[in-house]
Amino acid sequence: MSAATDVQKPDYNTRHRFHRFTDEHEELRDSIHRFVVKELAPHAEEWERETFADWVFPRMGELGFLGLDKPTEYGGQGGDYFTAIVLAEEIVNARCGGLGMGLAVQTDMAMPPIVKFGTEEQKQEWLVPAIQGTKVLCLGITEPDAGSDVAGIKTRAVRDGDDYVINGSKTYITNGHRADVIVLVTKTDPDAGYDGFTLFLVPMDSPGVIREKKLQKMGMHASDTALLAFQDVRVPASAVLGQVGKGFYHIMWELQGERLISAAGGVAGAQRAFEQTLQYANERHAFGKPIAKFQVTRHKFAEMATKIEAARQLVYATAARVADGDYPVREISMAKLYTSRIACEVMDECIQIHGGAGYMVEYGIERAWRDARLARIGAGTDEIMLDVIGRSYGL
Ligand SMILES: Cc1cc2nc3c(=O)[nH]c(=O)nc-3n(C[C@H](O)[C@H](O)[C@H](O)COP(=O)(O)OP(=O)(O)OC[C@H]3O[C@@H](n4cnc5c(N)ncnc54)[C@H](O)[C@@H]3O)c2cc1C
Repeated sequence: MSAATDVQKPDYNTRHRFHRFTDEHEELRDSIHRFVVKELAPHAEEWERETFADWVFPRMGELGFLGLDKPTEYGGQGGDYFTAIVLAEEIVNARCGGLGMGLAVQTDMAMPPIVKFGTEEQKQEWLVPAIQGTKVLCLGITEPDAGSDVAGIKTRAVRDGDDYVINGSKTYITNGHRADVIVLVTKTDPDAGYDGFTLFLVPMDSPGVIREKKLQKMGMHASDTALLAFQDVRVPASAVLGQVGKGFYHIMWELQGERLISAAGGVAGAQRAFEQTLQYANERHAFGKPIAKFQVTRHKFAEMATKIEAARQLVYATAARVADGDYPVREISMAKLYTSRIACEVMDECIQIHGGAGYMVEYGIERAWRDARLARIGAGTDEIMLDVIGRSYGL
């Protein structure tokens, strides 16, 4: 064997991230990337001020991006779970965290319970148009007096003949102002403990549904976030989603998908900030050389890259188990916890490497930092993730 063929070069630029990504996934990635950069990213600053435009849903529906892993009989693409991961990863190139969140609520938070628990009529009424992007979904778990403690919610649904009458309120509801329907978590039997919850699909134009106010936030400005009231909202029994009394278990299942897709988006957001900062560090000079050439800066990038890669592989390994039909609650909680933390650490370091420019709005890094901070709170806080992980060992 000649000496030349013995020399193996490091494959730093390989696209091969994980064995579950096929050529089809990479083609999908390229096509979503092109769309995001061309049609969404140019609006990032405008949407930061005004929330993202309504046309995004039907446009993405038209392109098939709202139903990548959803069943073909309802207009989805029938892809595997990694197609959803690809979307979560590529949407960060819109440079608009609130947009990614609003879309994820549609595709990975409110839609999955309809796919899994919905009746045929419910799927035709809500799932099909949601995949087309002509109907917008939101998900209502959190209330003014109960967030982490989901079992502490007070919204009541009381049976009245063939109907249910709903009273209560929900807060911090993403898409709450533009949604056509809400997947609503209620209590139907307050004395039945975890067996006293029921989900409903409540049309947002029902009499008694009040979109109280648009909440002002630290980040994710491109998303709309609502405080909602439900005052004697009457819905037919056919609005029950899943089994009466099993809503708590249904929503705990939903939260797993929500957490894992948030984790994938968090890693991708960190990677994007890393790349932007790497370019900046190579261009910015101090003391006669690019700041990237200081050893301290090089080591900052090495630390960030290692954290990002560890987080990414945890997400992929967990996603592979989900794709295979497992229910890896412990690892999903670990992925959510770890990715949220490292994303915040990476964003903070990226601001530091940018110096004063990092603090300026025009570079977009401060926005990425503000947007990323939500990950340690939304969809279950760090503390709740730690509790789920700890309890999984019988503690
Ligand atoms: C921008 C944004 C968008 C959101 N979108 C939605 C949405 O679309 N739909 C929806 O339903 N909700 C949404 N949420 C709500 C979000 O999921 C909750 O904010 C989150 O679950 C935390 O609940 P909380 O805010 O009530 O905090 P709390 O539960 O009041 O917690 C406050 C603090 O106490 C800690 N804590 C609570 N319990 C424990 C415990 N057992 N052990 C240790 N520490 C504990 C928490 O970790 C936290 O640090 C959104 C929130 C935000 C900020």
